[in-house]
Amino acid sequence: MRLPTCNRLFSTVLAALCLLPALHVRAADATEPVVVYSARNEQLIKPIFDRFTAETGIPVRFTTADAAVLIERLAAEGKNSPADMLMTVDAGELWNAANRGLLRSTRSSILEANIPATLRDPGNRWVGLSQRARTIVYHPNRVDPRTLSTYEALADPVWKNRLCLRSSKKVYNQSLVAMMIKARGETATETTIRGWVANLAAPPFANDNQVMEAIAAGQCDVGIVNTYYLGRMLQKQPDFPVKVFWANQRGDGTHVNVSGAGITRHARNPAGAQKLLEWLSAGEAQRLFAGSNMEYPVNPTVEIDPLVRSWGSFTPSRINIVEAGRRQATAVRVMDRAGWR
Ligand code: FE
Repeated sequence: MRLPTCNRLFSTVLAALCLLPALHVRAADATEPVVVYSARNEQLIKPIFDRFTAETGIPVRFTTADAAVLIERLAAEGKNSPADMLMTVDAGELWNAANRGLLRSTRSSILEANIPATLRDPGNRWVGLSQRARTIVYHPNRVDPRTLSTYEALADPVWKNRLCLRSSKKVYNQSLVAMMIKARGETATETTIRGWVANLAAPPFANDNQVMEAIAAGQCDVGIVNTYYLGRMLQKQPDFPVKVFWANQRGDGTHVNVSGAGITRHARNPAGAQKLLEWLSAGEAQRLFAGSNMEYPVNPTVEIDPLVRSWGSFTPSRINIVEAGRRQATAVRVMDRAGWR
């Protein structure tokens, strides 16, 4: 914007002055740090950022907090924000940040080649970096997996007093329900959730681990969780009696969410941030980013952790994950009406 205005003035002095900021930015890119606001926890991201710095010479500074806190902070800081990148553990949060104008659009042939289109923002403001499958889990001694099929089928009275769920306050459940609404509509989804609530063996739990512990302890037989929580549990206790069932394989596929990131609107080092994003989407970085938390890589050429691979392959939902954000407010209303606390 600045250069054409200057050119019109035909002044070599002014033109030279106009070029200064551009040169300054270019010179700073090589050593200026990338600043990341991250909802993904320090223990998972620090080793990966350290590796990036070792390979590229670009330092990474980061702050971790809840996505909602980081998004408010970005909005309040506006142009003065030091953040170049926002990283979250749910597509709904990324959608939120993008919707509030806090992220910029970045076209990158590397990101487009490495990450399937269903796991990226159609407006190029964020990308998924790891996939997290939210599916049905069950106790192998009390449930014959042939009696399982879909999320919706867990509303059948055959599961009365046998189902455990996490709280509807958690964004993971809001995203799951948002995608169900996209696939089948609001009314059908509300009917399903009423069925789930009627089948609950216990009030909703605060986290996915408690759901699995309740299944292991015999309080319930089936639940819905993110598989990486089971992965972590199995690392500590290989004989933990909870198994994975891939939901909706004959229909619309298992619900996957993403942890991901986008470059902020007012990034001071957008080139460095883009380099970090592209680096995270490929090779060893992908394997570490997904594997260190027992998640699935977004890049289909990257190897899956052996324990995660042991659960078998599955068909994920083909609906773009952006719908999780678009329908999140509706999902919250539907869950509330259906009595899911
Ligand atoms: Fe989680």
